[in-house]
Amino acid sequence: MDIDKVVRQHLEMEQFFSGFALKSKAGATEPQQQEDNPVPSEAEGMADPEKAAELEKVAEEVHQCRKCGLGSLRTNAVPGEGNPNARIMFVGEGPGADEDAQGRPFVGRAGQLLDKVIKACGLKRSDVFIGNILKCRPPENRDPRADEIINCLPYLQRQIEIIEPEIIVALGAHAARTLLNTTKSIGQLRGQFHEYYAGLGRPPIKLMATYHTAYLLRNYSQENRRRVWEDMKKVLTELDLPIPEQAKG
Ligand code: SF4
Repeated sequence: MDIDKVVRQHLEMEQFFSGFALKSKAGATEPQQQEDNPVPSEAEGMADPEKAAELEKVAEEVHQCRKCGLGSLRTNAVPGEGNPNARIMFVGEGPGADEDAQGRPFVGRAGQLLDKVIKACGLKRSDVFIGNILKCRPPENRDPRADEIINCLPYLQRQIEIIEPEIIVALGAHAARTLLNTTKSIGQLRGQFHEYYAGLGRPPIKLMATYHTAYLLRNYSQENRRRVWEDMKKVLTELDLPIPEQAKG
C-alpha cells in the first residue's frame, strides 16, 4: 500500500469538506463558526429540558441493556448524542473501536470526516443529533445481524420520537435499509428523499440516504465526495438553510 498516497487522499478529503464558507447577502465570504469558539445556535438556545431528560432515560436503559449478545462484548454502550431539538438526525450503523472505547458516536476517523461534513453544511456537531442503529459494537466491525437490529432498533425509534427531527440522514446501506425497511442498495437509495414512518398517528419524517463516511474513507474519489455533498445540499435546501460555497484555491 502506498501510505503517502493514502495520507494525501485523506488530507484532500478533509479539505474538500473543510473548505466551505457561507456567503453573506452582499456576496462576501464569511468564515464559518469554529467549534472551539461556538456561538449558541437557535436550536441550542431553545434546548428542551423535557426532551433532554427523556433522551437521558433512553441512554440509561441502553447502558444497562443486555438484550443481545453484543451487550456482553462491549466496553461501552454508545446511545448517541446531540441536540434534543435537532432538525437533522444522522444515523449510522453501529459503534466502531473508537466509539466503543469512548462511549460516544462517530469519534474515530469516520467521525472526524462526519464532523467536516457537518461543518461544511454551516452547522456544528452540537446542532444535530448523531446515533446508530446498534448501540453496541459488533466484533471486528462485522455487519449487524437481524436479531441484534430487532432488539436494538426500539432505542433509536424512541430517540427519533423524542427529537422529532425534520430530516433523518441515514449514513450507509445498513442504516438506510433498516429505517426504510427495504433491501435496495445505497446506490439506489441515496440522493433522494424517502419517508421514515415513526408510528401510527405521527407524520412521516423525510429521510435522505447517503454514503457512510467510513465508506468514503475506503472509497476515495472526487465523485463519491461530490455525491455526499449533493445529498447534503438537498437536505439544507429542504430545511431552508443557506448552502455554503466551496472556497477557491
Ligand atoms: S446492541 Fe442494543 S440490544 Fe444489543 S445489548 Fe447493546 S443496547 Fe442492547
